[in-house]
Amino acid sequence: MRLAPRHWSTETWWCSIHGHVTPATAARYPGRELATELDDGTQLARCLRCDTWVHTPVPDVGATPAPLPEPLRGKALDELVVVRAIALERGLHVLFFLALAAFLILLEFGLPAIQRDAQTILPLLDQTRGGQQRVARWLNDLVNLDGGHVWVLALISLGYAALEAVESVFLWRGKRWAEYLTVVATAAFLPLEIFELAEKVSALKLGALSLNLAILVYLIWTKRLFGVRGGFSALERQRAADVDWDSLHTRAPITPAVSPSGRRTRRR
Ligand SMILES: [Zn+2]
Repeated sequence: MRLAPRHWSTETWWCSIHGHVTPATAARYPGRELATELDDGTQLARCLRCDTWVHTPVPDVGATPAPLPEPLRGKALDELVVVRAIALERGLHVLFFLALAAFLILLEFGLPAIQRDAQTILPLLDQTRGGQQRVARWLNDLVNLDGGHVWVLALISLGYAALEAVESVFLWRGKRWAEYLTVVATAAFLPLEIFELAEKVSALKLGALSLNLAILVYLIWTKRLFGVRGGFSALERQRAADVDWDSLHTRAPITPAVSPSGRRTRRR
C-alpha cells in the first residue's frame, strides 16, 4: 500500500538521513554498472537504494569486494516508514500513560490532605447552583475515592505504558511479532473505545477510534497478518517481485529525467 504522493521518493529522503549505499566506494566490481571512473581520477558510484550517482574517490585496486548489500527500497521501505510513524504514535501513548501514572501516584500520596480540604470546601458549595454544583460533585467523588483504587489505576497505567513501549520499540525495529502485538492490543481496546463513544461522543474519541481502525486495517492488509492475502510468504514474494536485485546489482536502472523544457524523458 503506497500512501506517499506520486512524485515523492522515499529512497531519496531516506538516503538524505541515513546516507547513500555505494559499495563501489570500498571495492571494484568488474562487469557491474556500480561506478563510472572520471578523467580526474575520481568516480561516480551508484547508490543501491536511491540510484543516485555519488562523486567519490576510487577504491584501492587490491580491495576485496564484499557481498553486495540489499538496502530496503520500494514498497518495503514505504511500509517501514508507515510502521515507524505508528511506532512514534505508540511512543506518545507511552508518555501519556506515564504522565497519568505519575499523577495518580502523586494523588495517592496527597490524597488524605486533599480529602480533608475537600470536606472543608463541600459544605460551602452545598447551597450553590450551576457549574459550582459540578465542582461539588467532583469533590464529593474525591472524598469517597478509595486509595487502593488509585494504586490499581496507577498500576494499570504503568502496564499500558510498558505494553505500548514494547510495541513502539519493536515496531521501530521492524519486528513482525510487534505488528501482531499492536493489532491484538489495539483490537482488544476497541470495544472499550466504542463503549466510551456510545456514552458520550467527542471529536477526540472519534479521532482516536478512527486512527486505531486505520492502523488495524493498514497492518493487517499491508503486512498480510493472520494469513490475509496469502500471509508472510506472499509478502516475501511481493517484495522479491518489487525489487529485482540481480538486475539492480548488475545494471544501472533506467530513471526518468527532466529535460530543460520540463518534459519527463527516459534515460539510462
Ligand atoms: Zn542513496
